[in-house]
Amino acid sequence: MPKPMYRSNSFKKSIRVTRTGRNVVHYRRAKNSMPHCAICMQELNGISLSPSGGKSRRTNNRLFGGVLCARCTADVIKLGSRVERGDMKLSDIGMKQRAFVLQLVAH
Ligand SMILES: [Zn+2]
Repeated sequence: MPKPMYRSNSFKKSIRVTRTGRNVVHYRRAKNSMPHCAICMQELNGISLSPSGGKSRRTNNRLFGGVLCARCTADVIKLGSRVERGDMKLSDIGMKQRAFVLQLVAH
């Protein structure tokens, strides 16, 4: 039975045969998955998973960068300005977009 820490699914198993013919199981940490857009679940572009470099090298430096994709950000900004002008009510906006529109209008 593996150690309790290796029973997590964030460890990947690889079975190796040593030079003496013994079968051993090696464990390594699974890679982090790519971040996805919070609205449409599309994989985000312009994101680097490597920890090197500054924050602006690792994510995009726009409104909701690293959280929403470019298309959904544009939609949220559009809906936010419509709500601010009074052309649209918050109740007309879908649940997923409403949270981000509220953040935008609050500023
Ligand atoms: Zn999106």
